[in-house]
Amino acid sequence: MVFKCLKCGKEVEKVIDRVRCPFCGYRIFSKKRPKTIKKVQAR
Ligand SMILES: [Zn+2]
Repeated sequence: MVFKCLKCGKEVEKVIDRVRCPFCGYRIFSKKRPKTIKKVQAR
C-alpha cells in the first residue's frame, strides 16, 4: 500500500503505523488507493 506524507507530499510504500516520514519526519500519512480496485456488488 502506498502512503502519502501530509507534510512534504512524498509517497512512501509500506509505512507502518508508528513510522515517520523518511524525508521530513512527519508522522501523519494519508492512504492512497490503488487505481485498480473497484468494488462492484454483483447482485
Ligand atoms: Zn514527509
